[in-house]
Amino acid sequence: MDEKRKVLLTTSIIVDLPENDDDVFERVEPICEKLRTVVESLFNDDESVQATGVIAYDWFGEPTTNVGRCTRCNEWVTNREKPHELRGLSSATLVDGKLVCDQCR
Ligand SMILES: [Zn+2]
Repeated sequence: MDEKRKVLLTTSIIVDLPENDDDVFERVEPICEKLRTVVESLFNDDESVQATGVIAYDWFGEPTTNVGRCTRCNEWVTNREKPHELRGLSSATLVDGKLVCDQCR
């Protein structure tokens, strides 16, 4: 199949982390394994769908992580006018200096 006739579909989840940094890996790794297992099992009878097994980590609170809250609906969003837009979150832009998601505009 021509690569132009494919699409990469990505979804995302947001996970609450434990307070103690030493416990973060134990919290996140089983969730990653569950995601891989579920996605692969959902499509293992369809050769036209290939699970990549790739899980991207975007840590909230890091200086370069482009994440915030829509000031109207309070959903997690990414500002598409700034660098490092997160494709797993709804897009938002500044409206009168406040972050507003596309659904609320
Ligand atoms: Zn909103």
